[in-house]
Amino acid sequence: MQNSPVSKLILEGREFFVKRDDLIDPFLAGNKYRKLYALLKTPQQNYNKIISYGGTQSNAMLAIAAMCKQKGWEFLYYTKPLSKTLKELQEGNYFHALSLGMLHYELEEKHYKNFIVSLRLNLDEKTYIIDQGGADKSVREGMEVLAREIREANLDFDALATPSGTGTSALYLALALPEYRVYTTASVGDAEYLKEQMSALNEIPKNLIILEAEKKYHFAKPYADFLEVYKKLLNAGVEFDLLYAPLLWKCLLEQTQEKILYVHSGGVSGNASMLKRYKQKGMD
Ligand SMILES: *Cc1c(COP(=O)(O)O)cnc(C)c1O
Repeated sequence: MQNSPVSKLILEGREFFVKRDDLIDPFLAGNKYRKLYALLKTPQQNYNKIISYGGTQSNAMLAIAAMCKQKGWEFLYYTKPLSKTLKELQEGNYFHALSLGMLHYELEEKHYKNFIVSLRLNLDEKTYIIDQGGADKSVREGMEVLAREIREANLDFDALATPSGTGTSALYLALALPEYRVYTTASVGDAEYLKEQMSALNEIPKNLIILEAEKKYHFAKPYADFLEVYKKLLNAGVEFDLLYAPLLWKCLLEQTQEKILYVHSGGVSGNASMLKRYKQKGMD
């Protein structure tokens, strides 16, 4: 695997660098590639089955499906019940993950939590469980490889930025590059919740900064100002995802001044279905 490239982006007269992890692979890209790096490097014969659970539009699900296909591992994915519309959709992460061989199981809402807990109780040594969103200490290894690539590129910048869901990526990026500030934003829940999630993995380092917007945004909802930022970025030459990137870019433009390297977290494969929802709301 070669180092992912770096693009320059001019936005509101400011110059940004973008580490193009979105270009690594159509499905196994962005921070999900970095997060699964250690597993990808694991000898094929160590496992025959990967189990995970979570949302049915999740980028992690799609990346794990692509990894399992590559490795010849079976992939079992558990979710709460799914709508008929999503099941029949011929595009998007769920559709692609199934076509990569994912075995999907729906659990009744009332049994979901207990079932997920019970997965670990009767586990054989050839099965590996990846928690929702890939929050795992093994992510450190992939982020250290990313840090090495960033140092090798020898770029002139003052701070890094990458958006957070569980915060696993931003946390390990900040730990791997202690000489830079790392900006992030909480896309799922608020900053307090994000800190809690991160603290469960490691002490939060001083160089990690969580920016907060004035307005409260709910995860995966369409917002006119998010679409506006998305389009501005697209016009400047790079497509970003619609769930995580717009909030961080908004905060970077409003609250920072220095030269920033933005680590593209991927997720562009989910844009088709999200853009449809924007359209249904009369925003496009
Ligand atoms: C998963 C994901 C994130 C969040 O990553 P965490 O490590 O959970 O914080 C950010 N951006 C995109 C596009 C993602 O798919």
